[in-house]
Amino acid sequence: MYFPSRFDGLALVVGAGAPDLLFGLGAGWLFAHSPWALPILVPAVVLYCLSLRRWALPGLFRLAPTIFGTDLRAYGAMSTSRPPLTRSLASAAVGVGSHQLWDSFTHAGHPVASALGLDQLLFTVGLGPLTRDFSIARLIQYSGHSFGSMITVGLLYLIVRRRSPGVLNWAEVDRLTAMRRPKATVPLSLVGVLTVAGIAVWPAVGGRGPFVLIVLWAVAVLVGGRLVERAYVDESSERAKPGQPAR
Ligand SMILES: [Zn+2]
Repeated sequence: MYFPSRFDGLALVVGAGAPDLLFGLGAGWLFAHSPWALPILVPAVVLYCLSLRRWALPGLFRLAPTIFGTDLRAYGAMSTSRPPLTRSLASAAVGVGSHQLWDSFTHAGHPVASALGLDQLLFTVGLGPLTRDFSIARLIQYSGHSFGSMITVGLLYLIVRRRSPGVLNWAEVDRLTAMRRPKATVPLSLVGVLTVAGIAVWPAVGGRGPFVLIVLWAVAVLVGGRLVERAYVDESSERAKPGQPAR
């Protein structure tokens, strides 16, 4: 929000999730969370963001709700931003690197957490199959995830509410939010099918299960956004045919 012209916000956010996707795709956890994974992750993030802009936006956000008078369809306007490649690569690297840094001292299996003594056992919480040993690392991990998620949702709302200058193309936001909302049936069923598939393979992949699910959702975001946008454009051109009032 403070340096909107210095960052590609989409690459920053996608990059911040990327190490866990690499783990979900079969790489070792430690490798995905080490600097050695940067040469794979950074270009992959930039390619994924290019695909989102090219195919899935603004469709993906045409389904977003209006919360307390703030229309989150605004984020569809990311489709019009064209950051230079160097800015996207740098933003992706900051996103990926910050995730790796944070995880390095919040996961007991990481050498940094071990070296700092953060993997010391504090207590155990027993809830049947959900029994967990809590170390300082795990406490930071869980509280970080909870606060981080709340801050993310808060920022998604605040950026649009305050119309932070330069973060989005506000003229495009006004154009998109004046349009009607499409039906969510197709993309929601796609997410449903992929979620069921993810849960079905969970027992076979063990601890990797949740991360396989995230990979499937990343696919659903891209394909679902594309389907919404294509249906929307088709329907709009149908409506605009001669003899009918254009909208
Ligand atoms: Zn991670």
